[in-house]
Amino acid sequence: MLLLLIDMTNKWRVDFSGSAKRVAVVGAGVSGLAAAYKLKSNGVNVMVFEADERAGGKLMSISKDGLIWDEGANTMTESEMEVKGLLDDLGIREKQQFPISQYKRYVVRNGVPFLIPTNPIALISSNFLSAQSKFQIILEPFLWKKSDSAKVSDEDAKESVGGFFQRHFGREVVDFLIDPFVAGTSAADPESLVVSNVSDPLLPMRHSFPELWNLEKRYGSVIAGAIKSKFSARKEKSAEAKGSSEKKRRQRGSFSFLGGMQTLTDALCKALGKDAVCLKSKAPLCNVKEMKITKGGNLFPLDFLPEVIYMPLSVIITAFKKENVRKPLQGFGVLVPSKEQQNGLKTLGTLFSSMMFPDRAPKDLYLYTTFVGGSRNKELAKASMDELKQIVTSDLRQLLGVEGEPTFVNHFFWSKAFPLYGRDYDSVLEAIEKMEKNLPGFFYAGNHKGGLSVGKSIASGCKAAELVISYLENSSDNKMLKEGSSK
Ligand SMILES: Cc1cc2nc3c(=O)[nH]c(=O)nc-3n(C[C@H](O)[C@H](O)[C@H](O)COP(=O)(O)OP(=O)(O)OC[C@H]3O[C@@H](n4cnc5c(N)ncnc54)[C@H](O)[C@@H]3O)c2cc1C
Repeated sequence: MLLLLIDMTNKWRVDFSGSAKRVAVVGAGVSGLAAAYKLKSNGVNVMVFEADERAGGKLMSISKDGLIWDEGANTMTESEMEVKGLLDDLGIREKQQFPISQYKRYVVRNGVPFLIPTNPIALISSNFLSAQSKFQIILEPFLWKKSDSAKVSDEDAKESVGGFFQRHFGREVVDFLIDPFVAGTSAADPESLVVSNVSDPLLPMRHSFPELWNLEKRYGSVIAGAIKSKFSARKEKSAEAKGSSEKKRRQRGSFSFLGGMQTLTDALCKALGKDAVCLKSKAPLCNVKEMKITKGGNLFPLDFLPEVIYMPLSVIITAFKKENVRKPLQGFGVLVPSKEQQNGLKTLGTLFSSMMFPDRAPKDLYLYTTFVGGSRNKELAKASMDELKQIVTSDLRQLLGVEGEPTFVNHFFWSKAFPLYGRDYDSVLEAIEKMEKNLPGFFYAGNHKGGLSVGKSIASGCKAAELVISYLENSSDNKMLKEGSSK
């Protein structure tokens, strides 16, 4: 989350008399730091205010006893142009770390990890799905013709992710491909790990997978639409002669950095300079609605802001002696569908951290990062470290054949891991828009707007910075925003 408030002095009191171009960024998460960096690169005088005693937000890497792990985001992609620009400008390309065998990802079926086929042909030729489901996938382009798109009514706009995929591909696909994917990654972006339940009415298809939702509207069939749009995107790209470097960049997939994801936010802080990031400095936004903003001398009430629902999540790090792991799997990690709870599994999924990045653990250990909770099991997310250790060890015993106790355990609890893009998400976006419109000089970015992943948060920060720059260029006479109470 970040807010950009323009032309502020004395922490939270606004001074409209000066002509200095000063911007306060609230929140030193990756979106706030990316925005501040872009502003600074454009000659704007910027100060970041961070409530916590550290910068980085959900990018938090720890190094201890020869182990390196991430308690927040573990990987990111370069799908957004803003990410590419940022990595190049910061000069941290040589620190990028690509996971070994990153396309080997597993889903549990009948209590056993199953390698997910990486393309539709591999899916059809594998025995991952029943013959009936495969048949339904093959028939989907014929059953969902363009004319069917007319069926997408207002009611469909509220349809859950599970409902949408069930209509197109059947229940088995929902249970064993969509559910673990949504629970183990962000619905909006495969990169960010989330926490939802596919049948949750709070997880509408339209906000969770907007691209697929639009494909149905445009083409009827999701498969035919995906093929057609991929084809036309390719044509466009070759017309633009963007060449192979762009394609290669996207194909390289997920990555982290030497030392973990926080290397990125550390580099941003370094580039900003330590005087530009003010830690332990909480803007009075804990309850944004109570912020006293005046406009033209009158109080501007923020009572129209809706509640945002957050999902809790526990991240448990374990290390096991290699000789105590009977069935170690090469690859990225394993996702656990909700249905597999009937086979005694309670975790959402586990990343094979030291398989991906061997330098993250001593040679004789395997390091794992396991996620528990989310909307599938909010209460369990809050369990004690001892209870979570037992749950994780039991799941890893079943999935990877670990024996005995882990040699190392670490637990981190995120009470607000992710904002949920629910049915009321439209009203959240409308409220943000209303604030920005009514309060010139006030811009909003971050993972509440436009996507949860690290890449999307960076893009959101950079876009907000661009708006600030053009606002500063166009407005000779700043006015409007006034925060009533000073810190
Ligand atoms: C466990 C976990 C795993 C994830 N895994 C991935 C992944 O693998 N890949 C991926 O792409 N994404 C992942 N994500 C999502 C991604 O990390 C976040 O969505 C993204 O980093 C959010 O960035 P942000 O800057 O918008 O917000 P945040 O990182 O939340 O930063 C907001 C900052 O603002 C500060 N702040 C808040 N209020 C105030 C205030 N009033 N005054 C001053 N400061 C304030 C906070 O302390 C915080 O530092 C994961 C998230 C979690 C929790």
